[in-house]
Amino acid sequence: MQPIINLLVQLQELIIARAQQEAGMPGSQLDQLDASISSLTKEIPADLGLQFSRLLQKGPLAIVPVVNGVCTACGMALPVSLVHKVHAAEQIYQCPSCARLLFYRASSARNTRKAPRRSDPPKVGIERFSAETLMLPALKGADRETVLAEMCQKLKDEGFVDDAGQLLESALKREAIISTAVESGLAFPHVRSIEGGALTLALGITSKGIKFDPAGKAQTRIVFFMVIPTAASAFYLKLLSGLAQVFQKPENRDKLLEADTPEKLWKALMKTTRLVIQ
Ligand SMILES: [Zn+2]
Repeated sequence: MQPIINLLVQLQELIIARAQQEAGMPGSQLDQLDASISSLTKEIPADLGLQFSRLLQKGPLAIVPVVNGVCTACGMALPVSLVHKVHAAEQIYQCPSCARLLFYRASSARNTRKAPRRSDPPKVGIERFSAETLMLPALKGADRETVLAEMCQKLKDEGFVDDAGQLLESALKREAIISTAVESGLAFPHVRSIEGGALTLALGITSKGIKFDPAGKAQTRIVFFMVIPTAASAFYLKLLSGLAQVFQKPENRDKLLEADTPEKLWKALMKTTRLVIQ
């Protein structure tokens, strides 16, 4: 069953990438993605395909990884016998709690951010996902890979993820499906299924502009890098569309580009997103 499971996971990635394109860059060309989605769909047995699309009508995820014995979508700790069966993959199994299809994943980078203390004041807006320590006003990298490597390393150094190398590899894999660069010099690279914490955002600025999309013409200067737990997939799409909306406006982009210290960049990000991200 493993080849079919891999197909379903791949198909879901494409469907999510399509939703991301729509949220981040309305009016973008989706023909190529649509063609890949329809050709993959044909390879999946009809009854399973139907079950898969019914699950997708309820939310953005139909098949989710089991990590450390837990369904990453709903958080249910699964019976050990079920985890073994999911691992063996002779059939496709469903989560007894949320009914999503399950696949086994051994390990990946983890979010290691500490949960806030109860005595901490509640955070609002962009502060819930990011911090001044994740602002990079002067990225040194000259291309997509070096810039992403710098941002992954920052997330690791600041204690948000445990493995910068794995994170970079996953981010590049995602870029290979379809570039997350959009017109107007923005890019929204990300890695999904980083469990163990909340959605986390790092922001990097490059003074020269890099070619983030190898096939595109736009020079990217503002890079929003997001690390997303499986359960936050739907919320992520909302956040992405909020950021795209705010930074479509040149005056808001300029506020980020003018900031030359992490402190100024953080303040500019909080100010520009205050009304849209709550
Ligand atoms: Zn579940």
